[in-house]
Order: sequence, then structure tokens, then C-alpha cells
Amino acid sequence: MSDVDLESEQYEKCREAGEILAQVRGEVVDRVEVGAGHLAVAEYAEDRIRELGGQPAFPVNISIDEEAAHATPGPDDGATFGEEMINLDIGVHVDGWLADSAVTVDLSGNDDLVEASAEALEAALDIVEPGVETGEIGAVIEEVIDGYGFNPVVNLTGHGLGHWEQHTAPNIPNRAVSQSVELSVGDVVAVEPFATDGRGKVKEGSDEEIFALEREQSVRDRNAREALDQITAEFRTLPFARRWLDVSRPGMALRRLQRNDVVHGYPVLKEEDGRLVSQKEHTVIVTPDGCEATTRSR
Ligand code: MN
Ligand code: MN
Repeated sequence: MSDVDLESEQYEKCREAGEILAQVRGEVVDRVEVGAGHLAVAEYAEDRIRELGGQPAFPVNISIDEEAAHATPGPDDGATFGEEMINLDIGVHVDGWLADSAVTVDLSGNDDLVEASAEALEAALDIVEPGVETGEIGAVIEEVIDGYGFNPVVNLTGHGLGHWEQHTAPNIPNRAVSQSVELSVGDVVAVEPFATDGRGKVKEGSDEEIFALEREQSVRDRNAREALDQITAEFRTLPFARRWLDVSRPGMALRRLQRNDVVHGYPVLKEEDGRLVSQKEHTVIVTPDGCEATTRSR
């Protein structure tokens, strides 16, 4: 028997975050259509998270076609959706307890690539239980995506979720790997298969709109100091968007903070052959007889 209390406050807050996320994800999916603005969709989602009693755990990621992760609109972003593959990755926290979930909306006519990552996620969650090895989860994901004739993105992984920490151990691989960790009751992990019709690796692009605190340190520049005050008070170590900063010159403040290694950026990750990427993700709590997906719609 495990002595983890799955009814305790921390798990209740994880569930609350997951419920808010599922609600907002459903509403946002309905707003993604040709001609709709990226910025309007991201801000709608983030506002709804706050209205429902949560906080965004990271900026809503809107990744198009070969983009796999870490894309979010800038402050004056004028982009609109076309006939594209659109990954929406959403994070919610309640007092630092997190939920992380992603879905792909396909307007490009590549349903099977979307199905590949969705079915891989379901197959993976089917085997999550105490004692399962992370490598077994990766093997199931790889097998399903392979069965569709696509490749998993192997250098992106699922992950544990901690208090105010979006990425903790263990990694949940998207392919069979020998190095492995056993999951236990009470673990909160995000499982997130990515499927691509390319070779299955992402590389860093040049755009950067998402940042996070690296280490706290005093800064002399007033504009940068104001930004840092907001970051430490509001976002702590969670990722934030340039457009979330209330200072007069957010770009300058961030460049200064980055130069001093106070803040680091997350460059947009793109499939290295420029091929399409789909993604599906749920956050789960490992229970005595399996797992509970906190971010599933009910
Ligand atoms: Mn995510
Ligand atoms: Mn994740």
C-alpha cells in the first residue's frame, strides 16, 4: 500500500487546474478557424483561465505546421490562421499546482497525422500504472505512430510536474529507450506524443517570445528591474510571454535580463526537415490501479 493521499489539497488543486484547462481547451478549439487571429485566440484562452479561477502556467503555445513548441504571439502579432496544422498547448496552475495539455487542430487536410499522436497518447495512458517504466510508455508511443507510417519526435518528451515547476523528472520519452524510471502512486506527469511526417527531430529556430527566470539577481536598469519584480512576484520560475510584461519597453528589459543570465528564452522548436508536427498531451496522476487524466474533458 502506498501512503500517498490522493485526496489531499495538492491533488485537488491539480484536478481543479485540469478541469479549468479542459474547459478552456474546448472553447479555444472552436475559435481556431481560417482567418482568426493568433493573438486573439491566445488572449481569449489566457483570460478565460483567469476568469475560471486559475492562472496560465505558461503562455498559450500556438505552433503552426513545422513548429512543434514554444511559439506564442508577440505583443503586436498580426498573424491569422490559414489552412495549416495548429498545435495548441495550454498550461494552468492553481496556487502553483499544474495542468498541461495540448491538442492539434488540423485545417490542412492531414487528419491521419493528428490521429497518430492522439491514438499514441491513448495507448500510452492505457499502460500507465504504478511500476510501469517510462521506457515502456515511450515504446508504446513509438509503435502506434510507426503504425501510421509516421515518426515520433524523439527529442521532445513528456515530463513530471512539480509545485511551480513545469518540467521535473522523470522524462517520458516518445520512443523506446533502455534508460528507464518506474512511476509510482501520486506521481503527476504529462505524457505528450508528437508525430511528424519528417524524420522526427526538432531544432531551435530564431524567434523567442517565451522566457523564464534563471536566477534572481539585482539589476541596475530601472526598466529591467521593474520587469524582474513582476516576474518574481507573478510568474516565479514558470514561463511567461514578452506580451505579459507591464513595463514600458519589455523587449529591452528582457534583452538586459538575458545578457545578465537572469532570464532565459525558449526559442521556437521546429521540425528540422520543415515537415508537419502534431501533438496531443494530457496530465495524469498515477493512481493505485492506473492513472487519472486531470485534463480530460468530462
Ligand atoms: Mn504542454
Ligand atoms: Mn508538457
